[in-house]
Amino acid sequence: MSSRREYPLIGLTPLWDKDKQRYWMFPDYIDCIRHAGGIPVILPLGDTPEDMDRIIHSVDGILFTGGPDIDPVIYGAVDKTGTVDVCAKRDAFEIPLMRLARTLRTPTFCICRGIQILNVAMGGTVYEDIPSQYQTNLHHMQCIPFSEPSHTVAIEKKSGLYELLGADQIWVNSCHHQAIRHLAKGLFVAARSSDGLIEAVELPWESFCVGVQWHPERLGYDNPSSCAMFRAFIEACCR
Ligand code: MN
Repeated sequence: MSSRREYPLIGLTPLWDKDKQRYWMFPDYIDCIRHAGGIPVILPLGDTPEDMDRIIHSVDGILFTGGPDIDPVIYGAVDKTGTVDVCAKRDAFEIPLMRLARTLRTPTFCICRGIQILNVAMGGTVYEDIPSQYQTNLHHMQCIPFSEPSHTVAIEKKSGLYELLGADQIWVNSCHHQAIRHLAKGLFVAARSSDGLIEAVELPWESFCVGVQWHPERLGYDNPSSCAMFRAFIEACCR
């Protein structure tokens, strides 16, 4: 939006229940945006160029939420065995929306599936299934509640994330069975877990385009790193 708002409108990519044919949303995303000073709005799954255009010009920022796997056909993978569940409606909406957001430099926060959408939309690929395709001693699908951290990530010192958090390591939760495999050209790695997997990326030339593999919203707004990221995102959306 060209007009400046005191409380920016943040579009959330919606979750879709295929069985019930219903939209739904986790309240944690809503709460974290509200606490950071934004107004969350759940976006419709429109998939025409007109839909994309109207939506992106109606919001000040976009949060790409977690969700099912991206259809591997989209990033050119042949082996589908590691893919658990896909949502064609979300793929058809989120990939072009992400590309448009990068063209327009709309502030964007990408969580879990969101970081994978960012990477795939820019030409990267993902591991379809970490346990069968990546050697690791970490449980990226943690057994403890998602509100609790389960592994650390090392923050890249030259990253905007390091500047924001002022820490070279933080504890994060982990509930993903996929992760970035080939990093898209232009994306900058901002954090990795101890096994070397990419856990955060950013686009240094944008005011705020950050992707994280963990769920900051599930750690809660009183978690210092989650709070700092949501506040920085909303601040970028006010400019
Ligand atoms: Mn993880």
